[in-house]
Amino acid sequence: MAKRVAIIGAGVSGLASIKCCLEEGLEPTCFERSDDIGGLWQFTEHVEEGRASLYKSVVTNSSKEMSCYSDFPFPEDYPNFVPHDQFLEYLKMYANKFNLLKCIQFKTPISCMIQGKSFKLL
Ligand SMILES: Cc1cc2nc3c(=O)[nH]c(=O)nc-3n(C[C@H](O)[C@H](O)[C@H](O)COP(=O)(O)OP(=O)(O)OC[C@H]3O[C@@H](n4cnc5c(N)ncnc54)[C@H](O)[C@@H]3O)c2cc1C
Repeated sequence: MAKRVAIIGAGVSGLASIKCCLEEGLEPTCFERSDDIGGLWQFTEHVEEGRASLYKSVVTNSSKEMSCYSDFPFPEDYPNFVPHDQFLEYLKMYANKFNLLKCIQFKTPISCMIQGKSFKLL
């Protein structure tokens, strides 16, 4: 039976973690507190506690060649430095291409218990 793995957060790191687990024959479940993937790259007009936020005009400060997943380049027609909405679109393409959404449980914030006390994980 495949080993089960818990992954917290469906941002850039969580998505890559899910993919790696699947490639290794593991059974990942990713717990995401929001209702969508992308983490930081999900733009919102309002600031949310415990969450880094983007301003509307954010463009990556690393080039698309340096920022992409090694096995999934950005589309040719994307600019060299990618606006945040296209970055999110790219992450959605990645998740769809590798069928990652089936492993994500949305609206599921994870907290941890230490010596009987519950702590929120940011
Ligand atoms: C303004 C800004 C600009 C940036 N620009 C660049 C750039 O140009 N190039 C670059 O490479 N990097 C840039 N970064 C760095 C950026 O942090 C990374 O690109 C990337 O988004 C980090 O991904 P992550 O998955 O580690 O974290 P995040 O994107 O923060 O994702 C974390 C996810 O985990 C979820 N989560 C958190 N806690 C819990 C919990 N307790 N339970 C359940 N779910 C939880 C969140 O909802 C979120 O979806 C920038 C950062 C900022 C703030």
